[in-house]
Amino acid sequence: MLLATVKGDVHDIGKNIVGVVLQCNNFEVIDLGVMVPWQDILKAAREHDADMIGLSGLITPSLDEMVTVATEMERAGMTVPLLIGGATTSRVHTALRIAPAYSGPTLHVVDASRAVGVATALTSDTGRVPLVEETAAIYASIRAERALGKTALVSLADARANAQRLEFTPVAPARPGLTHIAHWPARDLVPYIDWTPFFRAWELAGTFPAILDDPVVGESARALWADAQAMLARIVEEEWLAPRAICGFWPARRDGDDILVTSNGQEHRIPFLRQQVAKREGRPNQCLADFVAEEGDWIGGFAVTAGDAPERLAAFRAANDDYSDILLKALADRFAEALAEALHERVRRELWGHAPGEALTPEQLIREEYRGIRPAPGYPACPDHSLKPMLFDLLGARSALGMDLTSSFAMTPAASVSGFYFAHPEAAYFGVARIGRDQLADYARRRGVSLEQAEAWLRPNLEG
Ligand code: SAH
Repeated sequence: MLLATVKGDVHDIGKNIVGVVLQCNNFEVIDLGVMVPWQDILKAAREHDADMIGLSGLITPSLDEMVTVATEMERAGMTVPLLIGGATTSRVHTALRIAPAYSGPTLHVVDASRAVGVATALTSDTGRVPLVEETAAIYASIRAERALGKTALVSLADARANAQRLEFTPVAPARPGLTHIAHWPARDLVPYIDWTPFFRAWELAGTFPAILDDPVVGESARALWADAQAMLARIVEEEWLAPRAICGFWPARRDGDDILVTSNGQEHRIPFLRQQVAKREGRPNQCLADFVAEEGDWIGGFAVTAGDAPERLAAFRAANDDYSDILLKALADRFAEALAEALHERVRRELWGHAPGEALTPEQLIREEYRGIRPAPGYPACPDHSLKPMLFDLLGARSALGMDLTSSFAMTPAASVSGFYFAHPEAAYFGVARIGRDQLADYARRRGVSLEQAEAWLRPNLEG
């Protein structure tokens, strides 16, 4: 089995877990790592005579890259099974876009625990044909269903006419401009860690802390928890990571579905997408721009990273210690999210200062019981990952933090979070979901890119 995270993507926790699980079940695994171009995947498959190829990806642009790999496998006349996995992949996307590009068996593997079953069936004389045929039939019916009907969309003009109309009392930030925090001690972040997603990364389902006593996964969860606490103590004591952050607040005003942000005397246009799905009476077609006043307001932005302890990871790999490698990456992700939470708290209380007296418990922070949101490019309310370069430029994130973006706008180091801050009391997360061609054309114009470019960036929302 050949495993790779596709070009432009850097996340590999899930892929590495799959690799370990398969190896424990006596599969030979060749792991090409992250950001692997299709050429290298095909070449390695030929060299190693791979009997299966597994592709992984975390961010939506990787979906397109997987279609490219499938197309090239087809062009090369390959017939080996293609397995698809990772956070943004889905059975529907595999059925609609990847499987049609490749005539060999194409299967979405929903999580690592399924990988062994699928790989075992594919390598068994009796199991292979039934699994491949059954999967192909399911995917064909998904395609047929899609061809029949999609959710109704309203025109962009009608969606705009049904915008949420808020009242505004803008709060000027206490500290406008940039705030750079070069060292945020890991120790101070521990109380902010949300542990539930940590167990999910290991495919243990349940909410922390109840998961530790879960009748099914409790024993595994407790063992993992003990290992995590031991490594956490070393991360803190020996300063393995280098958490750092930058945030900024700028004058802003809404212009249609765009937000115009003034930084260093220059105005930058940040376009946002609006929901076009037909809504029930009384429900608005939302757009993040609606949370900013037309007459003049403020917006914020942030980028944080936990760092990635490259020497530690190299040492774990040299020792073939896959488990510690995955554990450290999963903990680094937790620290990045904890830093985003801790910074947002400081923003509300002090730097923007729209909630100076706020005093919430860690549980309340995890439940987001505060005023304001921090939507992240690539997430449902602002699904276009290509806004990250603008955000990084406004923040100077590259020079201040040593962060960067890949060709698919994945952030490096991998354990990083970035987003915008909205302080309006009614600002809330939502999903843009599917949009129409009218909005695509309008967005391309506002964004200053070709229709083809916008289509490539927004593809998940055009198909959804
Ligand atoms: N406590 C969790 C928080 C991560 S998920 C953890 O430690 O993993 C929550 C973050 O995802 C939010 O802070 C926001 O940045 C982003 N997010 C969630 N839903 C979103 C949406 N609909 N649109 C944009 N960003 C969203």
